[in-house]
Order: sequence, then C-alpha cells, then structure tokens
Amino acid sequence: MRTAAINNSINSLLELPFEELISRANRIRKDFAGDKLELCSILNAKSGLCREDCKFCAQSARHTAKISIYPLKQKDEILKAAADAEKIGAEKFGIVTSGNRLTTKEIDTLSRAISEIKNKTGIAVCGSLGALDKQELKTLKQAGLSCCHHNVETSERFYPRIVSTHSFQERIDTIIAAKKVGLRVCSGGIIGMGESWQDRIDMACLLRDLEVDSVPINILVAIKGTSFENLDMISCIDAVKTICLFRIILKNKIITIAAGRETVLKDFQALGFMAGANGMLIGGYLTVQGRELSEDYRLIGEIKKLWRE
Ligand code: SF4
Repeated sequence: MRTAAINNSINSLLELPFEELISRANRIRKDFAGDKLELCSILNAKSGLCREDCKFCAQSARHTAKISIYPLKQKDEILKAAADAEKIGAEKFGIVTSGNRLTTKEIDTLSRAISEIKNKTGIAVCGSLGALDKQELKTLKQAGLSCCHHNVETSERFYPRIVSTHSFQERIDTIIAAKKVGLRVCSGGIIGMGESWQDRIDMACLLRDLEVDSVPINILVAIKGTSFENLDMISCIDAVKTICLFRIILKNKIITIAAGRETVLKDFQALGFMAGANGMLIGGYLTVQGRELSEDYRLIGEIKKLWRE
C-alpha cells in the first residue's frame, strides 16, 4: 500500500512543469548534498574481448565496434594514469576493466597498482572490475581501494532485455559484498536503452534501498557495431528529467553525469547540474572520447557560479 503511494507520488513528478521539476531537484541537491561538485577520471585498464553480451557495450566480443583491444595494463601505466588524473583536478580515479570476472593474476596486478597509487598520490582509487566476491574485495580494499563501482545498469524488469550472460542478482551480490567489506559503492546505470519511465524510477529506488554512495548516470551513446547501434537517442529534456527524478529519490547521494553528457545534453550541460547532478567525469570515457579539458573547466566554473546564485 505504502509502496504504491510512494510510486504514485514519484510518478506525479513527471506531470510537473519542466522548470518546477528542475527547481525542486536543485533545492534537494542544495539542502541534502550541498555545493560540492565531485570530479572523477577513469582509465580503461583492460579493453575489449569480453565474452558477455551487454547490448550497449562496444567491448563485447559479440559486437563489431571498432575499439582498441588490449590486456590488463601494467602497474606503472596504471600509476601514471592516476597521477595524470590527479594533475587535471580529479579527486577520484576509476580503474575500469572489461569482462565480468578477473583472474587471480589480474587481481594481484591491480592490488599492487592500487597500493602504489595510495603511496605515491593523494587521489582516491575506485575499481570498476566486474563481479567480485568478498575475498577479492577484501584483498583490493587492503591494497587501498576506496570504492567499488558496479552498475545495476537498469531496472530488474528491463535487465533481461540488455544482458543474458550474467544475472541481475549477480550484480546485486557484488554490491552487497562490497558494502560488507567496508568499501564505498558507486552504482548506477544507463538511460536511453528503450526502458520506460517506471524502469528509471525503479532503478533509482533500488539504488536508494541498496544505500549506495554515488550514482553515475550514463546516457546511451549508440555505438556503431553494437546491438543498440540503431536506437534513437533519448531527448535532452528526458535526460534532464531523469536526473531530476534521481536527485529527488536519492536525496544526498553523489549523482554523476557520465557518458553521453556532451552528445545528448550538448549546449545544455549546465542544466543537468541545475537538475540535481553533482558529479562529473572528466578526461574522457571508456571507448568514447570526452571533450577538451579547458571546456570542462569552463563548465565547472559556470556550474559553481549558478549554484551560488
Ligand atoms: S559492460 Fe562489461 S561485462 Fe558487459 S560486455 Fe562490456 S565489458 Fe563485458
């Protein structure tokens, strides 16, 4: 009964005039999360040849997207990327690997890289390393990992339409295990894959219930050679409305606009940060280039000015 009432009240937000929805979300961001904008940078540390079938992903070996393919980078390359990320102003450095399971040898290389990053830089290390069990997460935490990034991707209902080779529950299990070993958890998903508004709302409610710390929202950029290459892009207005809903549901969490910020929001990127987002990925994405850093710095200045007004 209570769930239905909450659902109705969330759904009714979609009927609000656009400006009013933005204004509500921005007020909640200010009241619950404050004026801090979090900047993250990521490294694609192992690329391509993945056996999974995530329909959106250029790194699946079932797709023909033209991407660089390479095994796990060596410790020193990862360390250098972390130092570079710190230099451009990122507070968090995410190491991302393709595939759903790492080998013991790869976990060992990553643990040594994380430990060096901890010793030689001041940047926090986040790992987006596929499914991990409690012992693997403990090992990585002991090495200095501060946060486990593992997306739920979408709602449980819509999930079978985008992935068939690993289950939704497996994703939830990694998130729960990461929390149990005391890691921060960053988990979000992708919008614009053909999901309904109810799917977006359900994903946000699930992330709230899982008590994750930060939520990246990726806006699908349909990549040629993937199963979703012919999907129409979500409109800028719908992307901004989704950010508003996530802020209203997730209150005090960090909500990061990740991939798709430039392609979908175009000249309206600042609007995403007036709609409740308070995190940004700088310095490029996994298989898609970001834009010039100077442009992101200008945007960061504009957001901070807008938030002060
Ligand atoms: S999202 Fe990860 S698991 Fe899925 S195909 Fe891409 S690299 Fe593989």
